[in-house]
Amino acid sequence: MSGVAAEFGELYGRAPDGVWAAPGRVNLIGEYTDFNEGFVLPLALPHTAVAAVSRRDDGILRLHSRDVDGGVVELAVDALKPGGVEGWAAYPAGVVWALRDAGHPVGGADVHLASTVPTGAGLSSSAALEVVTALALNDLYGLGLDRPRLALLAQRAENAFVGVPCGVMDQMASACAEEGHALFLDTRDLSYRQVPFDLAAVGLRLLVVDTRVKHALGDGAYAERRAGCEAGARALGVRALREVSAAQLPDALGRLSDETVRRYVRHVVSDNDRVARTIALLDAGGDMRAVGALLVEGHASLRDDLRVSCPELDLAVSAAVGAGALGARMTGGGFGGSAVVLVPAGAADSVADAVRGAFSAAGYGEPGVFPAVPSAGARRLG
Ligand code: ADP
Ligand code: MG
Repeated sequence: MSGVAAEFGELYGRAPDGVWAAPGRVNLIGEYTDFNEGFVLPLALPHTAVAAVSRRDDGILRLHSRDVDGGVVELAVDALKPGGVEGWAAYPAGVVWALRDAGHPVGGADVHLASTVPTGAGLSSSAALEVVTALALNDLYGLGLDRPRLALLAQRAENAFVGVPCGVMDQMASACAEEGHALFLDTRDLSYRQVPFDLAAVGLRLLVVDTRVKHALGDGAYAERRAGCEAGARALGVRALREVSAAQLPDALGRLSDETVRRYVRHVVSDNDRVARTIALLDAGGDMRAVGALLVEGHASLRDDLRVSCPELDLAVSAAVGAGALGARMTGGGFGGSAVVLVPAGAADSVADAVRGAFSAAGYGEPGVFPAVPSAGARRLG
């Protein structure tokens, strides 16, 4: 943190007004459910985006990232418009735009960022960047916005300003998660509950396997899945697929003629149900074997019904389970990115080795493997 403050001083010639942090996230279960008003269960990672920020009231926004070449980006806040900023600076600039567009008097800022969240790995480095910026400006301008409101504005920055059609899970996880907990989020109304998720206490660990691949196939897939789910909801006469329960699924499928839409509906309804079942298990003190089985079921559904997995993710899951993991599944948008693996603590190293060995044998590059310790959400550091 002091490193970031010192770098701010070198860049801008004064001390920052403060330093803030916001984490990346992994989603334990509930994938492609958030744009169906459904349930998700993410947790915050120890990896964070850190921002040293000073307020300025002359309409100038200066942005710098330690992690990107290219120096300070300088923008006029009243000239910000969607699509008008190129590259990484669009994320924090989009937050300033979203705040101002919602009527909040943000007059400018100097910002220096540094992040330990791996980028493009499905771990939400983008949401970490947005949320840390939103929280800093909320504090510096005394806006008094609560965490869900900040998350919504951060999502709006990504959707409308950057132009990425993401759901609200990533920003909510980064803004609202608590250490030692997973965040049970109802994306219909953004109500949430902290679910105790102290794996160490039960001798387990959650690993993230970053495949370090991103297949181009994924580019239009999100919008296509989203459109398919909306078509399914229309055909079933519901506002969103969240309205369809697991018990109603067989009947609902019988009423759908389009084979693709049926697969998407089956995934969303069954994954919502898996979130509910996972939470029931955790609340009951944790039959973690059963949780692991739900992860494996969820992966099969993403692979076979939603068809957003890829060979690297499938291999990460099968190698981990084959080496003694209780369960594993892809997490995030798929087509590369990361998988989560639930594993007995004593087997964590051998499972990680097995995954790396399987990747090597398949001729894939070495994956990144690290423990996902449920960590704190966005906060002020100093
Ligand atoms: P993910 O959110 O899964 O990591 P995205 O494609 O949504 O992947 O967001 C990654 C983008 O976020 C990067 O291409 C970059 O523009 C921006 N970004 C993330 N971390 C940083 C950083 N430390 N500095 C500057 N830009 C960053
Ligand atoms: Mg992102």
